[in-house]
Amino acid sequence: MSISPGSVTSQPHIALFPSAGMGHLTPFLRLASLLLSHNCKLTLITAKPTVSVAECTHISSFLSKHPEINHIEFHVPPMQLSGSISDDPFFIQFEATSRSAHQIHPLLASLTPPVSAIFADLVVANGANKVAVDLGVRNYIVSTTSLKFLSLMAYLPVLTTSAAAKLVDGATEIEIPGLTPLPISSIPPPFFNADHGFTATLVSNAKALPFCNGILMNTFESFEPETLSAINNKRALSNLPSILPIGPLETYGLNMNGQTRYLPWLNDQPAESVVFLSFGSRTAMSKDQIKELSDGLERSGYRFLWVLKTKKVDKDEKEDLGEILSSSFLERTKNRGMVIKEWVNQQDILGNAAIGGFVSHCGWNSVMEAAGNGVPVLAWPQHGDQRTNAEVLEKAGLGIWDATWGWGGQRLVKQDEIQRKISELMTDEKLKSKAKSVGDEAKKATGNGGTSKNTILETIESLKQNVQTVLGTHKN
Ligand code: UDP
Repeated sequence: MSISPGSVTSQPHIALFPSAGMGHLTPFLRLASLLLSHNCKLTLITAKPTVSVAECTHISSFLSKHPEINHIEFHVPPMQLSGSISDDPFFIQFEATSRSAHQIHPLLASLTPPVSAIFADLVVANGANKVAVDLGVRNYIVSTTSLKFLSLMAYLPVLTTSAAAKLVDGATEIEIPGLTPLPISSIPPPFFNADHGFTATLVSNAKALPFCNGILMNTFESFEPETLSAINNKRALSNLPSILPIGPLETYGLNMNGQTRYLPWLNDQPAESVVFLSFGSRTAMSKDQIKELSDGLERSGYRFLWVLKTKKVDKDEKEDLGEILSSSFLERTKNRGMVIKEWVNQQDILGNAAIGGFVSHCGWNSVMEAAGNGVPVLAWPQHGDQRTNAEVLEKAGLGIWDATWGWGGQRLVKQDEIQRKISELMTDEKLKSKAKSVGDEAKKATGNGGTSKNTILETIESLKQNVQTVLGTHKN
């Protein structure tokens, strides 16, 4: 499709419908910022209550910066714990939001100007699709994970039927026809139980994927070329609509209320000398693992900036650092390290010249942020999509990982293993140069004429044309 500036006809009104957790909210807010810069009218639907304080803070700060966005708070009926197999508050919210997603119909039907498209999280794909069909508008999915993991979720309805019996312990690989097989060790444990709330939620929503107009992905062509080409050329998962890679989604200005004491510190450190460690917004490590990590980090001898989380949900993090890490560790490392127990501005940290490597759990936003900044990653996946994401980033040349470390909490990863891997991360020149090329490719993709930029422009243009057609039909 060619784009001519003169062809801009009407303003599309897009309803954005993210799901629970910062990992899901962040790409939606980044996409919102991008869409606003291309003259789209937006409605943001957010669940009330949110699971974490971070979500609540980011939503209000984003909306106060963009008062032109229409905000709908969607009251998610609380789920009875007994109704869900999981006690993970994020999984419970996924289930609850997924079950009630169709209830956004009256909220969207009454909007002026009328909504022209829904951009929804996979976790609410089914409900969003029904509403889109009823309203006669387009429906896109915004994927918050790697294309490789999305492929697995798209194939889950087949994998979990008892007739297929493909997801069994003891198998070594999962074969999705047309794609490179996935090692069984990377399949999230809940997927082996079709009755698990998380699995059942994904299966019912994955069934809606073939009926949407496209899947917008926070990835870029050269990062996952094989999977992208196999799906878009219909050699794999041929029932899926077009995969539309639009990443790495660019960050938007965050208001961090001045909590940025680490940035002046980073500015004083030599280039590429600091290891940044962060395990995302909802991964807490055990105290034993934290102890091994602090010892391994200290023994590596590198400067470090470590964001520490001990609770999955940030509502009640009251402990002092001294209660988690020994005061002697903090004293010994005070001149070369900083440990933070608050929300940090990760996007700014990864963009700082002092950062030489990133120890990450491989949440997909973190992977894309590292890719966008060309920062090499030591992958330490903990749960969910993260082992698959780690494989993707290793294959793309962005990082290294040791698959024997297992899932988070599966075994205690010892300090000497950690020390070795951190040293490899910080000294491997080939890795550094590959990561820099990944960063260059990422910038090319989102720059003028780049594949990701063209894809989002084409999507917006097609929505504008569609609005124009609808307006024309109404006039006639
Ligand atoms: N993040 C941040 N500061 C923090 C913790 C997380 O800015 O203290 C951001 C991080 O940059 C990323 C998102 O929160 O954009 C977390 O998403 P990701 O997919 O990496 O992991 P998840 O939290 O979903 O496990």
